[in-house]
Amino acid sequence: MCPATAFIGVGSNLGDRLEYCREAFALLQSHDEIRLKAVSALYETVPVDFLGQDRFYNAVFEIETRLSPEALLEYCQEVERGLGKEILRPKGPRTLDLDILFFQDQVCRAPRLTLPHPEIAKRAFVLAPLSELAPDLIHPDFSASIQTLLERLPEAQRKGVKKQLEPGWESEDAPGGLQA
Ligand code: AMP
Repeated sequence: MCPATAFIGVGSNLGDRLEYCREAFALLQSHDEIRLKAVSALYETVPVDFLGQDRFYNAVFEIETRLSPEALLEYCQEVERGLGKEILRPKGPRTLDLDILFFQDQVCRAPRLTLPHPEIAKRAFVLAPLSELAPDLIHPDFSASIQTLLERLPEAQRKGVKKQLEPGWESEDAPGGLQA
């Protein structure tokens, strides 16, 4: 079986946001069946949905894996729990959130695992980092590329997403190294 390519979104807005994102990277990289192929820049982003919370750090990882989508989700949730995933309220502050954005070209509508992730097209904090790694990837629900979906978002939303650190994320003391 050929490995599948998947994109994983990472976000944190509680505690040491950079450290949580770095740890998420290191723990994904440490899995025998996951190979990190690329890392986007780290963005600081204004919250959406529930506005009364601190800004997030967001990034996207491109991976190759022989895990099934369900097993990858389970591992992502293990990483979240391992890093003390704390959610103060739905859509609210959280130490670490990992979302599977795309898994190859799989489409799946189960509540436990929806693929592609259902919120991609409305979220500048996903589309901006994802467009660095896969600008031409076509979102099957919209028949449009990631770059096009980003350009379609209102400017106010795109302005809420600011590049904070380049893809090495200040790599000298990054756990596991961030040069994927
Ligand atoms: P949240 O904490 O808001 O990221 O939501 C987590 C819930 O979304 C979990 O119950 C997951 O099973 C479910 N979920 C559905 N699709 C996905 C996906 N593509 N990636 C991550 N979680 C997902």
